[in-house]
Amino acid sequence: MFNTVTRPKKRLFLALILASLLLAGLSTYGIWRVSFPGLANISTYLPFLLGAVLGTVVIVITVGVIGIILAIIGFPTPGFFQGPAWSAINLLFPLALMLGKLFDIDKERIERSFIEVSNHLVKRKRIKIRPDQLLVLSPHCIQLDTCPHKITQNVNNCQRCGACTVGALVKLTEEKGVHLAIVTGGTLARQVVKRLRPKAVLAIACERDLTSGIQDTFPLPVVGVLNERPHGPCCNTRVSIERVAEAIDNFLIPAQMK
Ligand code: SF4
Repeated sequence: MFNTVTRPKKRLFLALILASLLLAGLSTYGIWRVSFPGLANISTYLPFLLGAVLGTVVIVITVGVIGIILAIIGFPTPGFFQGPAWSAINLLFPLALMLGKLFDIDKERIERSFIEVSNHLVKRKRIKIRPDQLLVLSPHCIQLDTCPHKITQNVNNCQRCGACTVGALVKLTEEKGVHLAIVTGGTLARQVVKRLRPKAVLAIACERDLTSGIQDTFPLPVVGVLNERPHGPCCNTRVSIERVAEAIDNFLIPAQMK
């Protein structure tokens, strides 16, 4: 099956997040109302205490969602929005996926939209770092499945024969002077991040892995580039070297891009 990656729309994720926020707000109010009589029997202050706690959580999440929307439509947003914004995304994301399922929206479409939103937010931070502070992380499925060379331990074992994207990726990252790791899974990816301590990550993966990776590694900035899957998932995948090069250049201090 040929899998083409269509240009994702940020508005899909934003609409689902807004709907999730509304649902979360109504549910929180419902929980408070239902528990009110029981709590009032214990103490007259308890319902108001619970109301204050739940109200604060809902307000922080709402501020986060407003922060995301303002940043997406181009308003300069202060740094303190970023924490609540990511907390809001992490909390509301499962609800957004649930709503998407209810409306028969493809999960991968929602994840692509989320990645687009996340990339946009990272780009807006205008992070500029040295090449040795950037890590390019790629999944192992990008290697030709019949290739005999072990590249997960050392990417330089690739013979750059051109049969898969690995050779071009090694060449590109070498030219740019950035780290490259090709990993077999999330655990290994986390180990590489821990060892190299990069200031930013450019992750190549499918929708599911990018979504969880971006959420897991917060506050480390991660820009995601979706892989292409002409042979289906997890087998002989590819990536656009132009898009990876562009994403690398966006991170690097201009003088060191030469
Ligand atoms: S480019 Fe490298 S990894 Fe890909 S098939 Fe050739 S030697 Fe193997």
